[in-house]
This record gives sequence, structure tokens and C-alpha cells, in this order.
Amino acid sequence: MRKRPKEPFIPVERHETVRQKIISALDGQTLSAKEISGNVSIPEKEVYEHLEHIQRTISKRNRNLIITPAECIKCGFVFRKRERLKKPGKCPVCRSELIEEPLFSIK
Ligand SMILES: [Zn+2]
Repeated sequence: MRKRPKEPFIPVERHETVRQKIISALDGQTLSAKEISGNVSIPEKEVYEHLEHIQRTISKRNRNLIITPAECIKCGFVFRKRERLKKPGKCPVCRSELIEEPLFSIK
């Protein structure tokens, strides 16, 4: 079993509220983590952590987190098999750092 990552000290209730806000922001809308970060007023890094949690739990409500994968702007390589949601730093094919951000939506 994988060890749970240490969570920062934030009361559970606030966590839930932020996740609820992210879920409503993505409901019927496609946004990047940066846009969600602006929408919900939390750092982009935290957006990814919440999205990973939402991805694991949302299917219980018969809904899905739809991910448009990141794409290399230079050669068009699509990062389909990433386990982490975060934007990759470099393209494995052409090594370009010009990467189109992944986009998220909930349906
Ligand atoms: Zn590339």
C-alpha cells in the first residue's frame, strides 16, 4: 500500500469547501489549473492536489473528471499516460518546454 502524503494543516471542513468550489467551477466548463486557481483563490499547486482527490472520489456520484491531456506546442506530442495531473516540464520527444496546459472539466 502506498503511503499517504502528508497533508498541510488545513481543517477538513475548509478542504471540503474548496473541493466543492472546484467541482462547481468545472461543472460544464473546461478550465486549466491556472484558471481554477484564480477562480477558487488557492495556489495552482494545491489545485492539482484537490483535482487528484476529486478524480478518485467523484465517480461515486456517477460523474467523471474529464482531462484534456497536456500537449507539446512544438511537436504535438500528447501526454496521455501521465499519472500525475500536473503539467509536465519537458517534452520527451523534442525536449521543448513549451507545453500546453492540461484542461479539466466535470461531466
Ligand atoms: Zn515535443
